[in-house]
Amino acid sequence: TMSCLTAMDAGEALGAFVHKTPEIALEQARAADARLKQGDAPSLCGIPLGIKDLFCTKGVGSQAASGILKGFKPEYESTVTSKLFADGAVMLGKLNMDEFAMGSSNESSVYGPAVNPWKIDERKLTPGGSSGGSAAAVAGDLCIAATGTDTGGSIRQPAAFTGIVGIKPTYGRVSRWGIIAYASSLDQAGPMTKTVGDAAIFLQSMAGHDPKDSTSADIAVPDFEAALTGDIRGKVIGIPKEYRLDGLNEEVSALWDKGIEMLRAAGAEIREISLPHSKYALPAYYVIAPAEASSNLARYDGVRYGHRAKLGPGDGITEMYEKTRAEGFGPEVQRRIMLGTYVLSAGFYDAYYNRARKVRALIKRDFELAFEAGVDAILAPTTPSAAFGLGEQGSADPVEMYLNDVFTVTLNLAGLPGVQVPVALNRDGLPMGLQLIGRPWDEAGLLNHAYVLE
Ligand code: GLN
Repeated sequence: TMSCLTAMDAGEALGAFVHKTPEIALEQARAADARLKQGDAPSLCGIPLGIKDLFCTKGVGSQAASGILKGFKPEYESTVTSKLFADGAVMLGKLNMDEFAMGSSNESSVYGPAVNPWKIDERKLTPGGSSGGSAAAVAGDLCIAATGTDTGGSIRQPAAFTGIVGIKPTYGRVSRWGIIAYASSLDQAGPMTKTVGDAAIFLQSMAGHDPKDSTSADIAVPDFEAALTGDIRGKVIGIPKEYRLDGLNEEVSALWDKGIEMLRAAGAEIREISLPHSKYALPAYYVIAPAEASSNLARYDGVRYGHRAKLGPGDGITEMYEKTRAEGFGPEVQRRIMLGTYVLSAGFYDAYYNRARKVRALIKRDFELAFEAGVDAILAPTTPSAAFGLGEQGSADPVEMYLNDVFTVTLNLAGLPGVQVPVALNRDGLPMGLQLIGRPWDEAGLLNHAYVLE
């Protein structure tokens, strides 16, 4: 804990931590020592973590990197952080992210971007998003692991850009209680770690049924670490042909081939599969996620949480809502609220929202058919490129930024688990990763496949 606290201060330039909690860290570390002395050694005893700013932590600033939650200190602790602390983990502080988890570069944060510890010359690169602070902190050795959340790729994409491991569990595996909502039918929390083994240990602590989250599943949590045998002989790995996009980056394609060879060499059977509705995933996601976000973000009205605008004479409640929301939300969040409100409006509901829901069902069916045909896991790229430079994407056209999510959003729509593993460095020396997509509730099998690629 002491050396991580020092690293956290020395690593200021990464912009990873947005609220530091050294007093809490030291108190938790002392409590962990005391437990050890009593012969009680829980799985995360004394392990220093960073927590994404989306998680409510009792008495500690929890702002979802948004101006509208300025000064918000929850009275309660999220289920995930409670579980981690109960297992002995130590919180170093809260981590930077895209505002309300909307973004793929951490540039929509009210705190400014986090920076990737990997660089090319002096060019500053994005650590990805939205869990950019989590990725930068783990890759930059400011902490052992971090929590992330993944609505459309926000654990896996930043993990890929920084050369670490990240797993998005099956929807319902990890409680969403106390995590500030983005798109409730897609959001899942998961660990971001340096190794697959660590991911197994952290997921073990985070997972499990929670009566406080009505979508949390009452399903037994297997021993994830025990599943890491490295034995995948006879397993069937699906390679979705639709993911070989026209114009797919050559180094991504070569990386994918390398991953295929590694799994084959470990005794897996490689099979080409078809997920025919994949090309509709991104547009469906960018209808459904903003629709849910516009509803979830309606609660930030200047009355209950955080920021309230200064009002002029004659201003009433409508002006208070308008001014508070105009000041408190950044441009990307405002765009999503407008998009979401539009697709949910009476005249367009069927044309957009209902259509997107139908597409979502088809995408889910594609995966089900592949698994029914005997596929154990699907291997695909995590991202269409390695990390790009800060300020280089999306400023003229937001859709350019959305395209980063082309490989990640499909499994959120289907509710499936996915793990990103770092596999190689590209010719600029930047990390690149692949993702494995698994059957519902098969995080154990998925992590074992990832273990072979690591
Ligand atoms: N980049 C995607 C978005 O902006 C995914 C974000 C996420 O998973 N939270 O919506």
